[in-house]
Amino acid sequence: MHGLWSSGASDKNKAMVEQLQRYGVIKSTKVAEVMETIDRGLFVPPGGSPYFDSPMAIGYNATISAPHMHAACLELLEDHLQPGMRALDVGSGTGYLTACFALMVGPGGRAVGVEHIPELVASSTENIKKSAAAPQLNDGSLSIHIAVLATDADGREGWPELAPYDCIHVGAAAPQIPEALIEQLKPGGRMVIPVGTIFQELKVVDKNLDDGVSIRDETSVRYVPLTSKDAQLHSN
Ligand code: SAH
Repeated sequence: MHGLWSSGASDKNKAMVEQLQRYGVIKSTKVAEVMETIDRGLFVPPGGSPYFDSPMAIGYNATISAPHMHAACLELLEDHLQPGMRALDVGSGTGYLTACFALMVGPGGRAVGVEHIPELVASSTENIKKSAAAPQLNDGSLSIHIAVLATDADGREGWPELAPYDCIHVGAAAPQIPEALIEQLKPGGRMVIPVGTIFQELKVVDKNLDDGVSIRDETSVRYVPLTSKDAQLHSN
């Protein structure tokens, strides 16, 4: 059979990954393999265009990041997502990137998502169950947590129980880098976090082996804010 009409979801997901490779966003074969294995179509709500390179609304004033942003973050974090390593995804939203992290660190590692909208925690868990990362939900190497410990205790506090992390990704823009997240980074570890309000930079934070921290700007970005649940649900 030929013709686009006959191509299924996995073909479209593969075509998306190939395009990101052609554009040079994906350079690593491991990142390409993981993004091919986790079908993005399972994580975008019905009616969306999962393979289109754009962010998409997922309800609750949140968005799933564009494929090129997910790819760029996986590339930046690849060395800190080796088998057996520990990764934290703050503002895990749809669960897509947390699932990718789980595949990278494998069953001997740990991928931890933290999200403050309980409905997204529930739907992301369902999404992951349909994906290639499902076995890792069962073996405990992948978990998504609700960040509602107290009125204002949330993803900005990280997830101390499983710290320290080799890799921390933050999927929402913070006004400044939360101290708790730096603390939960392992020496030698890396955090990627969008920082800013109107103008945002994706920052790469490396914790040196002597616990010193070096920070650089990777690129200008536009993410939803890392904020309190109330502020997020009442923003418009
Ligand atoms: N990486 C996710 C991004 C989702 S958008 C994806 O691509 O699917 C950012 C997410 O951060 C939203 O789901 C939002 O609810 C969540 N968020 C914002 N502030 C938060 C906080 N303080 N604690 C936990 N999650 C937060």
